[in-house]
Amino acid sequence: STAATPPATAGRILIIGATGFMGQFMTKASLGLGRSTYLLLRPGSLTPSKAAIVKSFQDRGAKVIHGVINDKELMVKILKDYEIDVVISLVGGGNLMDQRTLVDAIKSVKTVKRFLPSEFGHDTDRANPVEPGLTMYKEKRLIRRLIEESGIPYTYICCNSIASWPYHDNCHPSKVPPPLDQFLIYGDGSVKAYFVDGDDIGKFTMKAIDDIRTRNKNVHFRPPSNCYSINELASLWEKIIGRKIPRAIVSAEDLLAAAAENCIPRSIVAAFTHDIFINGCQINFSIEGPNDIEIGTLYPDEKFRCLEECFKDFVPMTHDMNVHVGTTEINNNRKSLVEVAPITAM
Ligand code: NDP
Repeated sequence: STAATPPATAGRILIIGATGFMGQFMTKASLGLGRSTYLLLRPGSLTPSKAAIVKSFQDRGAKVIHGVINDKELMVKILKDYEIDVVISLVGGGNLMDQRTLVDAIKSVKTVKRFLPSEFGHDTDRANPVEPGLTMYKEKRLIRRLIEESGIPYTYICCNSIASWPYHDNCHPSKVPPPLDQFLIYGDGSVKAYFVDGDDIGKFTMKAIDDIRTRNKNVHFRPPSNCYSINELASLWEKIIGRKIPRAIVSAEDLLAAAAENCIPRSIVAAFTHDIFINGCQINFSIEGPNDIEIGTLYPDEKFRCLEECFKDFVPMTHDMNVHVGTTEINNNRKSLVEVAPITAM
């Protein structure tokens, strides 16, 4: 860390949604830093895969609390009893409105030093997807306004896209490798977006929670090295696997039609895909406003994993899929590849 970076406090962190897609990255990062990490789990039986995730977090020191965020009395008690300093919510798209009660609980205890609502994507006040994506953003915006009215110190993490192939029908695209048979190119394929490794989202978010400079700010993740158009992503993957893959065009109209099907959650992803790769929602605004800050400018000595490295992580997954992508180069490099998590059922 740099001299300008304030030291980390010993604050206790409550993570909501630790078993989820984004929540796992955040929990790993918190535990990796040796932070006092509490996980709020919904009571009831966990699926075997979620139980295994929880067990691995507990083995690394996480403390489990059972409860739901839409129970105000319980949340007040939890925040008080465990002396929680930072609350990070990573509830999924279907549960965003449950955060209203959580905001209420945080407001009444007055001891929470920072709240990060479930954002972790675009700047929802600026991005403007079509329906059904818009409804989700309206919910995220409503939670923002409630937080601001409550006077709770907050940080909105606008981390842009997760490093992976941006499938227009998959909420959790980094669980599957980029295509091996055909690339679907959105529009003319030239609009750029930012692709950030999930572990980096966790790592940089953990820095931001203690930092006075991120208090009541939109924190944007715009690592210059990870800014790619979909044409460039396709070329990158071809370079890694050592062969060419045919391209097909998915037009703006095709994406709008997929959104209009209103099939949840697939159509929400289609709406966001349209906003990213047709409208340019990640790059079409400046972040020089008084409420904006770019995370890389805060921690200039901390590096982001570059997209090429992230994409190389997917190569072993393609072997698991029993598909031939081998080149001598890849086979020689395989040992140096980071071990990837097993593919879970979508
Ligand atoms: P998931 O659906 O994968 O996980 C949601 C988690 O929240 C689960 O652990 C779930 O628990 C928990 N949860 C839901 N409701 C409650 C509640 N009332 N009380 C307690 N826990 C609850 O969510 P995602 O990771 O997909 O989404 C999290 C955020 O990240 C969203 O804001 C989403 O928009 C964003 N996102 C961003 C992406 C990007 O590329 N930038 C990609 C994907 C998501 P349980 O295990 O009991 O179900």
